[in-house]
Amino acid sequence: MNIADLFKHKTVFSLEVFPPKKYSSVETILPTLTALKNVNPDFISVTLGAGGSAQSDGTVAVVNLIQNHLKIPAVAHVPGLYQDEEQVDQLIQRLQSINVDNILALRGDRIPGLAPRGVFNHASDLITYVHSKYPDVHIASACYPECHQEATSFVDDIEHLKQKIDAGSDHLISQLFFDNRHFYDFQEKLALAGINVPVEAGIMPCTSKKQIERITEISGIPVPDKFKKMMNRYADNKIALRDAGIAYAIDQIVDLVSQGVDGIHLYTMNKPEVAQRIWDATKNIFGATELHDDGRLTIK
Ligand code: FAD
Repeated sequence: MNIADLFKHKTVFSLEVFPPKKYSSVETILPTLTALKNVNPDFISVTLGAGGSAQSDGTVAVVNLIQNHLKIPAVAHVPGLYQDEEQVDQLIQRLQSINVDNILALRGDRIPGLAPRGVFNHASDLITYVHSKYPDVHIASACYPECHQEATSFVDDIEHLKQKIDAGSDHLISQLFFDNRHFYDFQEKLALAGINVPVEAGIMPCTSKKQIERITEISGIPVPDKFKKMMNRYADNKIALRDAGIAYAIDQIVDLVSQGVDGIHLYTMNKPEVAQRIWDATKNIFGATELHDDGRLTIK
């Protein structure tokens, strides 16, 4: 089943989780995943540390739980920078052996002090390789509504994005952003560049000031004044900050879906209670899907 087909039928609502740090404790995520099933996700994607294959056991175990135990379509993140062909082959074949045929192909974050393998220097290199060798694997890739921080220019970044689509990616998931106007400007840039695959908007509810500051600093994502004021006002009141952060995310989602976005990708940070509140407030603006045992997907 190709995740990208979902967009033909509905506004997609997808989730992202990360595996437990230790593979030995992978079962500890089951209650989180079970709770996330209540928000009717169209698919759940699972991150993989930039190191790639060395850390892939947790990701493979979690996508297995999602797709084969909970019967929710799963997408495995595959970063390429620190992997060679053999390692990518092993990972893809392990995923195929558990019937997971959707991946999010990434360059991956840089690991300070560690030299890249030099095989998949850009996500497009990985996409080209996987697409030609594994034609049955469906490939999503990442995009940056406010430009990737290492790009020499926004024009270059869009050009590189086009290379990922031309190499075989048929679905984009965006980096998180806090100002919808930047996403709408980005959609115009994509249209001008002839990129017309479905693009999901990445939304991260703020539940911790420290966490948002860390993520936005590492990835160079701009934080609007309005959002900063909210974080500062409730910095010492966890519950108020969580409520305000959820309300902000709901506001973004309602606006995006009303404007016809292809899908919302919620960075859950493994907090099902936050995803649940967002889903309760927005569920009627999305359609619903069902994955059957034989792999068929129907729209409810
Ligand atoms: P690329 O598409 O390769 O782009 C990276 C930079 O290189 C850009 O500036 C681009 O303009 C430039 N570039 C691309 N092609 C070329 C070229 N041919 N010549 C010159 N420059 C070029 N990281 C992880 O390690 N694990 C994860 O699980 C993970 N999940 C993510 C999920 C999402 C939805 C997103 C948005 C990001 C995720 N990341 C993850 C982070 C991601 O790996 C980083 O943002 C990384 O810096 C870029 O990855 P990419 O696949 O977009 O790279």
